[in-house]
Amino acid sequence: MLSAAPRSVSSVARELGLTRGEVESDFEHLIRSVRAAGHRVIVQPAQCRTCGFAFDERKLAKPSKCPACRGSRILEAQISILKS
Ligand SMILES: [Zn+2]
Repeated sequence: MLSAAPRSVSSVARELGLTRGEVESDFEHLIRSVRAAGHRVIVQPAQCRTCGFAFDERKLAKPSKCPACRGSRILEAQISILKS
């Protein structure tokens, strides 16, 4: 279901027929499971488009505001799964 191409949380949620909230709350578990299966998971953290501030990669929910510049143009976190 997940390819190596970077995917947004919203995109993964749509594909699985889940709400964003369901995917966000289950994603840490999903990432742990994928890593336990020997695959690599790369999370590109959400980032502010205005000043480049990078959010914590464990926070998959899209931040509403940048704490550095208070801008609201936030690039959503992207998830890649590399099958080994
Ligand atoms: Zn910013």
